[in-house]
Amino acid sequence: MALFYKSTRSDGYTVRASEAILKGLSEDGGLFVPTEIPRLKSTMEELVGCTYQEVALEVLQAFLTDYTEEELQSCIRKAYDEKFDDPYIAPLVKVGDVYFLELFHGATIAFKDMALSILPHLMTIAARKNNVKNEIVILTATSGDTGKAALAGFADVPGTRIIVFYPKGGVSKIQELQMTTQKGNNTNVVAIEGNFDDAQSGVKAIFEEKGLKKEMLAKGMQFSSANSINIGRLVPQVVYYVYAYAKLLEHGEIAKDALLNITVPTGNFGNILAAYYAKEMGVPIGKLICASNENKVLFDFFRTGTYDKNRDFILTASPSMDILISSNLERLIYTIAGQDAEVNARLMAELKEKGKYEITVEMKKNLGDFLGGYAGERETFEMIRKTYEQTGYVMDTHTAVAASVSEVYRQKAEENRPMLIASTASPYKFVGNVMAAIDKKYSDVDEMDLIQPFKALSHVEIPAAVEEALLGQVLHTKVCKVPEMINVVKEILEKEQ
Ligand SMILES: *Cc1c(COP(=O)(O)O)cnc(C)c1O
Repeated sequence: MALFYKSTRSDGYTVRASEAILKGLSEDGGLFVPTEIPRLKSTMEELVGCTYQEVALEVLQAFLTDYTEEELQSCIRKAYDEKFDDPYIAPLVKVGDVYFLELFHGATIAFKDMALSILPHLMTIAARKNNVKNEIVILTATSGDTGKAALAGFADVPGTRIIVFYPKGGVSKIQELQMTTQKGNNTNVVAIEGNFDDAQSGVKAIFEEKGLKKEMLAKGMQFSSANSINIGRLVPQVVYYVYAYAKLLEHGEIAKDALLNITVPTGNFGNILAAYYAKEMGVPIGKLICASNENKVLFDFFRTGTYDKNRDFILTASPSMDILISSNLERLIYTIAGQDAEVNARLMAELKEKGKYEITVEMKKNLGDFLGGYAGERETFEMIRKTYEQTGYVMDTHTAVAASVSEVYRQKAEENRPMLIASTASPYKFVGNVMAAIDKKYSDVDEMDLIQPFKALSHVEIPAAVEEALLGQVLHTKVCKVPEMINVVKEILEKEQ
């Protein structure tokens, strides 16, 4: 059965999956959502024993109905291969009595690889299907991890070029090096003097610039997005929640049909929304716990029903979650409004004008099993130290926010369901803060000098991604102010490649 996508901000037109992936964002500024969430074809028992690639095929087939099975197979083969340093692609690790779903075994050692290793392939097929001859220009704002994962995914992909903006000083040293050493003729990396929200709003404004759009079409170019607003990012993220449940069942860690709680360290709300989609597809999932750091807009939202970004932006040790405007929340708002585009559009307009909006009591009731929690820097560091001392397992700062929130939840909860924690980055990526959490004596040591000590302490091999960042030559040094972003884009588009 064919599935269509529509905008969260207006009714009247629908597009096929491949068109939604190509466009990234709807013309009215809304996000594409499927007109309904498809059910899984197989039962969880039937998925027992399936490989990651097999589960991926089932999920992608359900959502991306205008791709053929051969096309999806080819994308899956190219995406989930030896770039991942674990044959399970997303291995589960039991630590104490919770399960960490390690989503960082891909090329850039953050969970963004789960979707960004397949998106370029989905996009080039989408271009072919829709007879698009234009060069696809990927324009992306990053809080650190998306940028590198998108660069790695799109580097030297014919018919594409990519421009990444990141907040100068807002990412870890290793994250920055990973981006600035990126090779590939079609890659461009620019630091901005501002924070992630500035970068994201700047990119959104460039997307909406009608004049630029015309100029580009005349040159045979068009924009698309690799940010998690693209449905082609969201759908591949549903896969690992389905897969994780099947694996827990396979290993006798969960009883048939028993509910699994999931805690997700959240920034732009993409990862946790994928867990919600998995639940709607039929995976027995209980609570969806949204973990924030000190930028706790989402925690306040789930508690009060008011989303208010008017507050100080705090730089934390979990920079990929330093976000005050969680773009993907719009998809949930649309859903809890009873798929009412008008209501959603009004709330999003309020967000843009006043920086806040309030949902109705009715809508709040529809939030169902979502729950917010947050962890401050102290709790986050304490979780890393405690877990290391008690078990030898070392997690990164983002995962630690989730682990801390999940621990508080489990102490108070009236049920004792198994808990899955989405583990979103390799501790190597944030080794400075991870080591400082384990022992204060590392606080003043340069991050680069902590890589070897961390290896000795954690017994985890240094990932290839870190070696490459350390040995690579810095190729991108451009820095600009926020209002200059559009001109920087224009300059880059003038370049021959
Ligand atoms: C992007 C990212 C997050 C936040 O994920 P969202 O889908 O934006 O909510 C959390 N942790 C890490 C390490 C990330 O890279």
